[in-house]
Amino acid sequence: MSTPPLSSRRRELAHGLQLVRERIDAACAEAGRDPAGVTLVVVTKHFPPSDVLLLHELGVRAIGENKDQEAGPKIASVRQELPAGSELELHFVGRLQSNKARHVAAYADVVHSVDRTKLLTGLAAGALERGRPLSVLIQVSLDGDTSRGGALPDDVPGLASVVSEHAGLVLKGVMAVAPLGADPDIAFAALVELARSLREGHPGADWVSAGMSGDLEAAIRHGATHLRVGTAILGSRPPLL
Ligand SMILES: *Cc1c(COP(=O)(O)O)cnc(C)c1O
Repeated sequence: MSTPPLSSRRRELAHGLQLVRERIDAACAEAGRDPAGVTLVVVTKHFPPSDVLLLHELGVRAIGENKDQEAGPKIASVRQELPAGSELELHFVGRLQSNKARHVAAYADVVHSVDRTKLLTGLAAGALERGRPLSVLIQVSLDGDTSRGGALPDDVPGLASVVSEHAGLVLKGVMAVAPLGADPDIAFAALVELARSLREGHPGADWVSAGMSGDLEAAIRHGATHLRVGTAILGSRPPLL
């Protein structure tokens, strides 16, 4: 990627952010929702720490990353550059290997992609080392294809109760990616229904992480509390390997 001068990159990011904020406001107005109830997590994977710093200047307070080997060094360098006391949450949104869980919990504030009990010991150990609770969401596979990450809907209640047995982990809710080729309205309606039944046993688990660049309006319509938006703000990434 060629790097444009900072001032023009700042303008690009400001423009992308403004467009996304306008989309969020319009979708909230249509749904009769308060935009304050929707948290924008800007997914900065593939983009450099300098973009994260510009986004922070532009008012972003939550960024998303999906790979431990990229996220760890990036957030460390960003936190070093930010003035002391600056607020910036790191949301880990990618598939997590169990041998990386402890390391991710040492720098992440929220993990959106918990989909199996095997991750929990490592996440809890990392949270205890850091000395603060780690917020976790259970990722749900809405089409039964767990190879792309996510627990089967039937497995969510069991996984949720094991999460809540771990000191250091706080169950916040659910996350999903709309299945490829599926109607996001149908997918997010199913996710929100699942979130509703989860709250019967876990009243604090009221976050619904859903909606990306292409489907954030549908997510807002169905009650998403957290959007994970990359491309619409930062531009396109090279195709996945
Ligand atoms: C990359 C990514 C996003 C952002 O997707 P865009 O289409 O670029 O907005 C959201 N959620 C997850 C889990 C991702 O990996």
